[in-house]
Amino acid sequence: SEERLAHAHKMEALGQLTGGIAHDFNNVLQVIVGSLSVIERQIALGRAASIERPLAAIRKASTTASSLTNRMLAFSRRQTLVPRVIEPDKLVAGMEEMVRRTLGPEIELDLRLGPCRCSVTCDPSQLENALLNLAINARDAMPQGGLLRITTVDRTFRTKLPEPDIEPGDYVEIEVTDSGVGMSHELLSRVFEPFFTTKPLGEGTGLGLSQVYGFVKQSGGFVRIESAPGKGTTARIYLPGRAAPPAAATEDRPAVNGAAS
Ligand code: ADP
Repeated sequence: SEERLAHAHKMEALGQLTGGIAHDFNNVLQVIVGSLSVIERQIALGRAASIERPLAAIRKASTTASSLTNRMLAFSRRQTLVPRVIEPDKLVAGMEEMVRRTLGPEIELDLRLGPCRCSVTCDPSQLENALLNLAINARDAMPQGGLLRITTVDRTFRTKLPEPDIEPGDYVEIEVTDSGVGMSHELLSRVFEPFFTTKPLGEGTGLGLSQVYGFVKQSGGFVRIESAPGKGTTARIYLPGRAAPPAAATEDRPAVNGAAS
């Protein structure tokens, strides 16, 4: 669990790194756009000779931008998904200590885990990371303390599909509910946007829920969030489930055709 906490901190640090790169990238773009305006103005005034400085600024900014994108690409290549067949209730149970430490003493943790009949095929560390992101958001929404409940349960969707483009069938639902400040409609409609955050600079990256969204989509599932100001927030992750074969056959084995791109 020390190792997991280290992983959690690494993910938070990586999120901050990505947020920092986006910020720097935006600065670089401003230099490019600003210098282009200078050039356009000089050309309009018939002063073609005075465009050397802004051109040099554009060249320098473009080089910086290209090195920033290379860093981002290097970062995303390191994140290869390794899907395995996992039992979600056991995975969540294994995170208890880490979640408790993340929440601190003022927030009560209530785990209501399965038992789930279904297993899911996904990258376990990505799922842990997604749940940790939800727990961190819940913690930040309860500065005076409160209650965090995590529930895992089997769900079957046949004809009445909760989303238009999902496959009917078995899913495992992982619900994370907090008794925090909640969100308005406007806020809720933007939470999956990358880099959207209401947290102070340096505290939020705005990448937590977009990571959750990306992971769940890649795993063939979907995610829903319900919230109201003063009433708290409920996030539900649905992952495609499969009635579990005997445990010995599924333990820690990479899935066939597992490598998602
Ligand atoms: P970050 O946590 O870095 O801000 P997220 O993408 O995880 O990025 O969240 C985006 C925003 O959504 C948060 O800044 C916050 O305003 C809001 N939010 C997310 N989860 C909750 C929650 N459980 N309760 C209240 N607001 C939330």
